[in-house]
Amino acid sequence: MKSVTYNDAELYRRLRAEVLGDTRLREEGEMFLSLPPSELELQSRWFAGDFGRDFVTTCGQPVRIVQFGHWNHSAGPDFTDAVVLLGNGEPVRGSIELDTNLRDWEHHGHGENRAYRNVVLHLFIDHHGGGQFFTRTDDHVQVPQVQLDLSTLSARPTGIVPEARSGRCSAPLQEMAASKINELLTSAARFRLKTKGRRLRRIAEIHGESEMLYQAFAEAFGYRRNRLPMTVLAQRLPLSGLRAHPDTGEALLFGLAGFLETRVFEDASDETRSYLRGLWETWWKHRAEFQGIDLGWRFSGSRPVNHPQRRVAALACLVRESQRVFRHLWESAAASFDRKAFVKVLGSLGHTYWDNHYTLTSKQAARPMALVGGTRSKEILANIAYPLVVPHNEAAWDGYCALRGTLENEKSRRAVIRLMGRRPDAAEFTGFVYQQQALLQVYDDFCMDDESDCDDCLFPEQLRTW
Ligand code: SF4
Repeated sequence: MKSVTYNDAELYRRLRAEVLGDTRLREEGEMFLSLPPSELELQSRWFAGDFGRDFVTTCGQPVRIVQFGHWNHSAGPDFTDAVVLLGNGEPVRGSIELDTNLRDWEHHGHGENRAYRNVVLHLFIDHHGGGQFFTRTDDHVQVPQVQLDLSTLSARPTGIVPEARSGRCSAPLQEMAASKINELLTSAARFRLKTKGRRLRRIAEIHGESEMLYQAFAEAFGYRRNRLPMTVLAQRLPLSGLRAHPDTGEALLFGLAGFLETRVFEDASDETRSYLRGLWETWWKHRAEFQGIDLGWRFSGSRPVNHPQRRVAALACLVRESQRVFRHLWESAAASFDRKAFVKVLGSLGHTYWDNHYTLTSKQAARPMALVGGTRSKEILANIAYPLVVPHNEAAWDGYCALRGTLENEKSRRAVIRLMGRRPDAAEFTGFVYQQQALLQVYDDFCMDDESDCDDCLFPEQLRTW
């Protein structure tokens, strides 16, 4: 099936650049999860470096984020211990505050709060109410302001969910030779893999390679519905801190996730009570350090085996085994990447309690369940392993292309129907992960941006010149 002669991302990159312009580098991970995006998501995206690190203040002064600092657990500015470089000055260490509205600084009383005295940068999205507003600390020091541009992340966040029916491009795609479709899909898949790799490397530049992998695994463990809470959990509880205190990690993750509410466990089994007692004995000593936040877990719409509590358990197991898992990945990147061996490593992440429980309130399951099953392993391969390995090890590309995938998620199924709906041999182009990723790339680039029911979309015309 993969008998292509052109295996680079360049063809697809040129096609989308002609239609969309070169400036937009959007992919699934860069789309907003809600519209308007929540402050928590904006903070998470900022901390991941998705907005970039070079900005211009509202006064026209260039500013570079040298260090993004730490996500603050307690009351006070959002990020502490950041380092920023303003113009040609010396790097300045201090805190960063991110508000959706510029005047939130005033509305939330930060200007009279001594805890905000060391803020060196005030980030905001909108300036509702207009007029001039200067950010000042309680000791009357003016704080530079930077307006973050949402279009950096999403060119035109329409919030439209395209219908699940054949689109206008399905006609030219129906007429295209199989070899040409294969070439298109391969190129789009390459493009997507590169984009994912670029995002991961950017996070590694900011937070280091281990934190990048830890955050990326957390995001992957969150599936689609709980990506944000899982990512925020990992961003707020960095791997370095959890590794330094290995006995506390699991309790901190469950505690900060909000899953250690006593009232929930009054009727719990002896086994559950015993497990919880261990978590509680650690958590109660630390919980005062953490300001409670609502991570926005979504409990409905996912199978019991994927309950958020099992996802947090998987993350706790990853923390415990992170050196072994990450070493395997990096060593594989340098040698020949053994996909099956890596999946086996992921499958070995186990837990005496969670191997047999769906939630903290469920009875013991009839059979043991993997914390990281086959579907999750494929997601991790497609979104983390191959985007990182292929740039170092070109031979791994063939392994990626050999990875089969089921159309499990709704978005993939919709992409297939819209683009390949008219081809009787559609199954030939949808059975492998790289093909599904390619179709998702087209869907994200064109369908998600279309408000004309395909009429104004230029993808069909571009296809005729392919
Ligand atoms: S919006 Fe464009 S790419 Fe999407 S189905 Fe319609 S014609 Fe095809």
